Amino acid sequence: MTSLTTASRLRPADPPAHHDGGAPLLVIGAGPKAIALAAKSSVLRSLGFEAPEVVAVERARTAANWHAGGGWTNGRQHLGTLPEKDLGFPYDHSVWGGQDWAAREIARRMSGFSWTSHLLAQGTYARWIDRGRPQPSHREWADYLLWAAREAGLRTVTGEVLGAETEHGGWQLTVEGTAGRETVRGRGLVVSGPGPVTGALAADGVRVLDTAGFWRLSLDGIPDHVRSVVVVGAGETAGTIVRELACAMERDVTVVTPRATLFSRGESTFENRYYSNPRGWTGLSEADRREFIRRTDRAVFSQDVQRDLALTDRVGWEPGRVVAAEAPADGPVRVTLSYAGRERDLRADLVVDATGGDPLWFTRVLGPRAQDELRAALGGPVTRERVERSIDWSLTVAGLSAPLHLPNLAALAQGPGFPNLSALGLLSDRVLAAHVPRTTSGDSDGDDAHVPLGSGVPAPVAPQGETLR
Ligand SMILES: Cc1cc2nc3c(=O)[nH]c(=O)nc-3n(C[C@H](O)[C@H](O)[C@H](O)COP(=O)(O)OP(=O)(O)OC[C@H]3O[C@@H](n4cnc5c(N)ncnc54)[C@H](O)[C@@H]3O)c2cc1C
Repeated sequence: MTSLTTASRLRPADPPAHHDGGAPLLVIGAGPKAIALAAKSSVLRSLGFEAPEVVAVERARTAANWHAGGGWTNGRQHLGTLPEKDLGFPYDHSVWGGQDWAAREIARRMSGFSWTSHLLAQGTYARWIDRGRPQPSHREWADYLLWAAREAGLRTVTGEVLGAETEHGGWQLTVEGTAGRETVRGRGLVVSGPGPVTGALAADGVRVLDTAGFWRLSLDGIPDHVRSVVVVGAGETAGTIVRELACAMERDVTVVTPRATLFSRGESTFENRYYSNPRGWTGLSEADRREFIRRTDRAVFSQDVQRDLALTDRVGWEPGRVVAAEAPADGPVRVTLSYAGRERDLRADLVVDATGGDPLWFTRVLGPRAQDELRAALGGPVTRERVERSIDWSLTVAGLSAPLHLPNLAALAQGPGFPNLSALGLLSDRVLAAHVPRTTSGDSDGDDAHVPLGSGVPAPVAPQGETLR
């Protein structure tokens, strides 16, 4: 992988031509991140940049986690972020040339993959405006993603990634599909998705459910005898489940939260700005960045969920961490929680463990060489903290021979918007910039204002005294 210097330029090849970009960039999962990358790559290639093709390896189907049956929703839940925070957002392409023609043209062509372009393509734009621009359901968002994946020509290999090994500066994936095992090779690897649910409790699929089990039950219909439910977890995964239980299913819910209460997400204009544009983020102390993420993203319910929950009297909470659950044949489920050194029991007809996914899941599929390299790059055993601190400008773990992009773990080091939908356009720029060859040729339109950035080069930090906006 080439590293950028301030003397090099990210520029389209001269003259613009068709480039295959060499080996593809591989993405585990055909969700929003893979689709945003494919859209940006197709735009870059149409302008003559030597961007790699994006190949997603997907075990289920495109946008699987946004459909009913994917384990995270029943499809009827609504998107939390604005749909205008779409695959190209925030449409600032200064990575590719500041204010020059290339950046402007990239923004213009990316707008062809926007949420509004999707509505225009299906003839529902005016209707959506007249309806007051409602938040799309997850099912509608999945339709948008499928449309964009088709438009971008995203190539998908269907199968489960079982192995990932480094090889000559690139990656080799072992994929198990319906036709058996195959090997897929690429120049870099992006890991997407929340990771499989690990859970605080062992789910029995009947009275102790994980997130996927709950959404399956919501499709089948919750039994009448289930009146009281304990939900474990206080993040957005839990929030949507609590809302469905209390508001749609009219059940009494007790939420077990590790903190004092069910905090709401900070969504002020000042907080949102760091999600869309992480300028100044790397200049904050680690303690301030962690506090920001805790207040605005982790273990908080969105204001949308809070608004709905305020309309019902059915939701209570208990501070603590669940340590055990027992489901005797002749009585309610007993949940034991621990708080401030004391243990106490709750009883309910159903328990839902909504504690979220394991972002380090990918380490279990890494081959021995990749494992060794990762440990060496981190300077010790693989822990979440070490990985989070190691993520560089291009969202890769610094110091590996083959680029491993981990946007879901990039919030602490690079900006809170990279794990979610808040800055998919910026995410694609940073990841792809690490794979596009640099030229040292002059500007195509004489505009020299752009300061090029690239792999390992930190994002601009506001100079001391500069006001952040
Ligand atoms: C229900 C839900 C609602 C959310 N709402 C919002 C929101 O409103 N705003 C926001 O900013 N964020 C939201 N998030 C958080 C985050 O933005 C999403 O998780 C988002 O989908 C992340 O996109 P992605 O491309 O990383 O992965 P995903 O869309 O999660 O896709 C990951 C894909 O990887 C596949 N996969 C996983 N493991 C393997 C494997 N070993 N082999 C092959 N394929 C595999 C899965 O089948 C899946 O299709 C939400 C998350 C969920 C689950």
